[in-house]
Amino acid sequence: MDIREIYHHFDKAGCCTFATVDENGYPVTRIAHFFAFDSEGLYFRTMRVKPFYRHLAETGRVSVCGLVTTSAAITLGPDGMPVEEPGYFIRVTGDCREISFETLSRKAEAEPMFALGVKDILRYPDMTTFCLWRFKGEIYDYDYEMTARDHKLERMFFDFGGFERPFKGLRIGPDCIGCGTCMANCTFKAISFGEDGIYRIDPGRCDACGTCRHNCPAGAVEVFQ
Ligand code: SF4
Ligand code: SF4
Repeated sequence: MDIREIYHHFDKAGCCTFATVDENGYPVTRIAHFFAFDSEGLYFRTMRVKPFYRHLAETGRVSVCGLVTTSAAITLGPDGMPVEEPGYFIRVTGDCREISFETLSRKAEAEPMFALGVKDILRYPDMTTFCLWRFKGEIYDYDYEMTARDHKLERMFFDFGGFERPFKGLRIGPDCIGCGTCMANCTFKAISFGEDGIYRIDPGRCDACGTCRHNCPAGAVEVFQ
């Protein structure tokens, strides 16, 4: 997935949750949005007097998540279980750096998308711009009721700017005795049995719900966190 597509998904989500960590190690969130992108990253703004700015300046790190769905409300079905409209969220975590007004102005000369940032800073002089220049991310597309497909999840993982993205999730390891319990209990249809006689978990469908690991009689399901 390229930077244009990533930006497009965040733009569709509109207002997104931006998370930083404060001086006491607590996560803090607020609503903001990306207003531009280019080959160097995704851009957002904040004011220097805000704690958000201090966290960004001190840590150089941010995590952002946006939800796209027809209804964020969750209702309960006849069985008392939650029923959710299909949708997806996009999230990224990575490194950001402040860019100068001069740099932003140069970008605005080449790409009108940046002009909004320039105008805003001229109006609110304490405002500044950050570029999320290196990150990893994911699109988590859910259809829990399986209204449009025969499985609940489609997850797509991506990275940008050389951010390392080691595997995270669950895998079936060499202790597997081939009993098939995991596959029978996976409501996400994320486990398959290959022609080579090996059970495998598809990371693109797995929710990391842990049911397979919980039920495996051989302790063969490994967790990478
Ligand atoms: S439940 Fe455990 S032992 Fe059985 S097939 Fe799955 S991973 Fe292998
Ligand atoms: S963690 Fe849950 S979703 Fe993933 S393979 Fe195991 S049972 Fe299926």
